[in-house]
Amino acid sequence: MKTDRAIDTVGALKERIKELDCLYQISDIAHQPDLELREILSRVIGIIPAAMQFPELSSVRLSIDEINLSTRANAGGEISIQADVVLNYLNRGRIEAFYSKPQQGKVPAFLPEEERLLSSIAKQVSLVLERAGIEETNSRLQEQLRHADRLATIGQLAAGIAHEINEPLATILGYAQLIAEEEELPDQVAKDVKKITSATLHAREVIKKLMLFSRQVPPNKVALDLNKILSEGFYFLESRCERQGIRVVRQLEPDLPPITADPSQIHQIMVNLAVNAMQAMPEGGVITLSTRKVNDHIEMGISDTGIGMNKEVLSKIFIPFFTTKDIDQGTGLGLSVVHGIVTSHNGRIEVQSEPGKGTSFLIFFEVDND
Ligand code: ADP
Ligand code: MG
Repeated sequence: MKTDRAIDTVGALKERIKELDCLYQISDIAHQPDLELREILSRVIGIIPAAMQFPELSSVRLSIDEINLSTRANAGGEISIQADVVLNYLNRGRIEAFYSKPQQGKVPAFLPEEERLLSSIAKQVSLVLERAGIEETNSRLQEQLRHADRLATIGQLAAGIAHEINEPLATILGYAQLIAEEEELPDQVAKDVKKITSATLHAREVIKKLMLFSRQVPPNKVALDLNKILSEGFYFLESRCERQGIRVVRQLEPDLPPITADPSQIHQIMVNLAVNAMQAMPEGGVITLSTRKVNDHIEMGISDTGIGMNKEVLSKIFIPFFTTKDIDQGTGLGLSVVHGIVTSHNGRIEVQSEPGKGTSFLIFFEVDND
């Protein structure tokens, strides 16, 4: 006849084996490639009830960041234990296990071993989160690289085309001007020549923008006060804003250190971003111009409360000639130029946009250290 104690030991051993089995299965799931984070977490909590002393009474709930999962539709119960999921000292969420009331008798209590098991599982889950974070950063970096690479290729192509076209354009313009100087031109011819001239000038503008984008125009850098550009430079756009019912708000940090930059190119950035902002707010709104020093960088922000962009548009905005506007509204070169200028200043651009809410562009420059 077995003693009570022996039964206890066998019982405890069985429980221990269940726990180890559970941890083993979890680590197996956690290391499966190609599983989405949500799927991993959902499988992980699916395993837990079986490791409890009373599987049929137990349910498990997990909530981490925006992910909420449970093993039953109405997981919960009268008695629960829980373990926090902590990653890099940040509490990201928790796992809870519940016992519900059995048909007969009392709700059982959880054992200290079960609490320990839950904390071990929570630690495994935080490792899963860590790995998911690293993978996401990796794929974002790769996407950025691909984007940069594509832009560089387009840039080279654009530079080549710009160069080839610039010469014949100069020739067309030169001869058109010679004809225009002719005396006693028939009226119609004079008008036609004028059209040729203005079309050629327009083409030359486009080429100039392309060259700016592909960084064929080296910046002429000086110590520059961004606040001054944003306040004085924007002055010319203000009356247009007013007519369109747009309020301009300035949040310029006083005593901003200078950056090393080409004034006319920085002015160009501001104009391009501001024009886009205005075009995004045909019914009026607010443009906010901001500057700020953060660590060793200076931020220049231009944001609007306009139509915003969806992800699809957002992923293409720096590509030359990409535009969602009518032909007389846009050439699709504004942001390509902005990108080219920012890159040639060793800067960086961030964009945030939400359809119907607005868009904000942030540009980071290095602080002038000399
Ligand atoms: P363009 O203004 O000539 O179309 P850009 O290169 O300046 O070319 O902009 C490309 C596209 O990016 C625009 O056609 C528009 O769809 C989108 N975009 C840029 N800025 C904004 C903004 N502030 N709000 C909404 N959409 C914008
Ligand atoms: Mg534009």
